[in-house]
Amino acid sequence: MNTNTFDYFTPGSVAEAIDLLSLHGDQARIMAGGHSLIPAMRLRLAQPKVLVDIGRVGGLNDIRLEQNTICIGALATHYQVESSDLVRKYARALQEAAASIGDPQVRNRGTIGGSSAHADPAADYPAALLALDAELVANGPGGIRIIDAASFFVGPLTTALQKCEILTEIRIPFGPVGAASTYQKLSVRQTDFALVGVAAQVTVDDSGICTSARLALSGVGHCAYRAARVEEALLGLRLSDLPAVTRACEGVVQGVSVNEDAVTSADFRSQMARVYARRVIQAAAERC
Ligand code: FAD
Repeated sequence: MNTNTFDYFTPGSVAEAIDLLSLHGDQARIMAGGHSLIPAMRLRLAQPKVLVDIGRVGGLNDIRLEQNTICIGALATHYQVESSDLVRKYARALQEAAASIGDPQVRNRGTIGGSSAHADPAADYPAALLALDAELVANGPGGIRIIDAASFFVGPLTTALQKCEILTEIRIPFGPVGAASTYQKLSVRQTDFALVGVAAQVTVDDSGICTSARLALSGVGHCAYRAARVEEALLGLRLSDLPAVTRACEGVVQGVSVNEDAVTSADFRSQMARVYARRVIQAAAERC
C-alpha cells in the first residue's frame, strides 16, 4: 500500500527540526532512516501530514570518546555502530546488538536513534543499552534532557521522549573496571527481530567470582527490562559454575508478563530467556 500524502522538510539543524515539530504539532513526525516509519506509513499505522527528515542535520552521526564515555550520535547507522572500533572495544554488547539487526540494507539505513525512539519491544538495542547503563540525550523546546535507559523505555513503542523532542545522542559509560559485555539473540531467521534478546555486563575477581552484574532482555516482555533478581543472585557466584548460574537465571522472567504469539508460547520464550541469560553471563565472564 502507498503512504498517505505528506509535506516533506529537510531541516539543516536540530534547532530548525524542533521549530518544525513545534509548528506542526501532532501532524509531524521525525524521520531518520525510515526503516520503521515508512513500513508503518505504508500499512497506515502512521499517517503523518508532515515528515521532518533529520538525515541532513550535520554532526548527528559521530561516534566519539569523551572522557570515559562513548558518545554516539542518534543518526549513526546500525552499520556504523557495528563497525566502530570504539564500540567494539568498550561496549561489545551494543556492537553485537547492532550486528544482529535485520540485513545489510536495514543496517546501512536504520539508525540507533530511530530504533531507540521507535522502542519496538523486540528490538535489539534496548537490552544492550540497559545492560550498559546508557543515557539518552533529548533536545527539545525546553532545552536538553539526559534520560537514563531504564527511564527511557516506557512501554511498547513508547518512550520518555516528550512532544517536539529529538533524540540527539546516546552515551555509554565504560562501566566498572574490568567489565565485559555481550549480546545474544534468538530469532526465527537470522534477519528477524528478537524472540529473546539478552545482554549482560559483568565483572569478576581474580578467582572468577562475580562482583557486579547487569542483565537485560528484549523481546520477552512488553518492553525491554533489567532482570534485577538474577543480577542479585549472581553476586558472589563463580560464573564458570554452570549449575549455580543456571539456578540464578531461574528468575529471569519473574514478575514479567511474557509475550506469546503465533511463533512461540510464553513457556517457550521463558525457557529460552533462561537459557540465553545463562549463556550471555558465562560468555561475558569469559571475556573479563
Ligand atoms: P525511522 O523509521 O526513521 O523512525 C522510527 C521512529 O522513531 C519514528 O516514529 C520517528 O519519528 C522516530 N525517530 C527517529 N529518529 C528519531 C530521533 N532522533 N528522535 C526522535 N524520534 C525519532 N530492528 C531490530 O532491532 N532488529 C531487527 O532484527 C530488525 N530487523 C528489521 C528488518 C527489516 C526488514 C526492517 C525494515 C526493519 C528492521 N528493524 C529491526 C528495524 C530497524 O532497526 C529500524 O532501522 C529502526 O527500528 C528504526 O530506525 P530508523 O532510523 O529507520 O528510524
